[in-house]
Amino acid sequence: MKFPVEWILLALTPVFLLFVGWELWRLRRQGRLSIYDWRDSACCAALGLLHQGADKLAWVLTLPLYGWIFHHHRVFDFSDSWLSFFALFVVQDFLYYWFHRVSHRVRWLWAAHSVHHSSTRMNFTTAFRQSLMYPVAGMWAFWLPLAWLGFPPEQVVAVVLLNLAFQFFVHTQIVPKLGWLEYVFNTPSIHRSHHAKNPRYIDHNYAGVLVIWDRLFGTFVEELDSEPCEYGTVKPVDSFNPLWVSVAEWRDMLAEAWRADNWRDRATALFGPPEAAEEAAARQRARLSGRRQAA
Ligand SMILES: [Zn+2]
Ligand SMILES: [Zn+2]
Repeated sequence: MKFPVEWILLALTPVFLLFVGWELWRLRRQGRLSIYDWRDSACCAALGLLHQGADKLAWVLTLPLYGWIFHHHRVFDFSDSWLSFFALFVVQDFLYYWFHRVSHRVRWLWAAHSVHHSSTRMNFTTAFRQSLMYPVAGMWAFWLPLAWLGFPPEQVVAVVLLNLAFQFFVHTQIVPKLGWLEYVFNTPSIHRSHHAKNPRYIDHNYAGVLVIWDRLFGTFVEELDSEPCEYGTVKPVDSFNPLWVSVAEWRDMLAEAWRADNWRDRATALFGPPEAAEEAAARQRARLSGRRQAA
């Protein structure tokens, strides 16, 4: 029987938990256990499980589309070799970079991705913090080009999940910079800066596995000792309730789009960069309170 690839992440859970244990042990020895907050970690774990369910459902619903593109419209015929799997890994990582970059710059996707960033903590459990709403945001569409290129859908699922599995290991404050690896791979230092909201760091380091894309496309930033990372989002969510955390930004987005009094602001609320959407929302609030005072 073939291993059901959709279960890779759940199958790796014991490994992830071992690393959480190792991190807790190290932090305790260093007197830095306050990096953990059990309410935050419990929320992250619940979000991870919810995401697993939503992700399985998304694959069930979209795999027929992947299969149709692969069987009827693929451009290349790859042989079943390690070389073609390596090519798949590199192209998927490239697409991940763009998925991740768009997720930070387009409100519709940020509404889902902000869940991953809304903790003010940074430890291995932060990696579990994923959004239930990715299927609605349309994350699944970003890997369609892989089926079109000629990679079998089952391999696409495997490589998407392996990329995510790798990223578990970059969510920690106990690993320093890693020398030459910083030039090739996404590392804990690189990903710590990605989770920081300091102006220096925000909207940089979108790497999944390889950091070469950030270096190539000008989105790389180096973590500096002189500027410690402040974790979290500019607009805090302030809740440990996984369901509320999952929908908070969607509620704001839809409410702002609904209340907007012109189509430009409506489009900005849905598809503009998060800070432009925030400015449009502030204008809206000012207008509404003006109207209330006038009344
Ligand atoms: Zn991100
Ligand atoms: Zn992360």
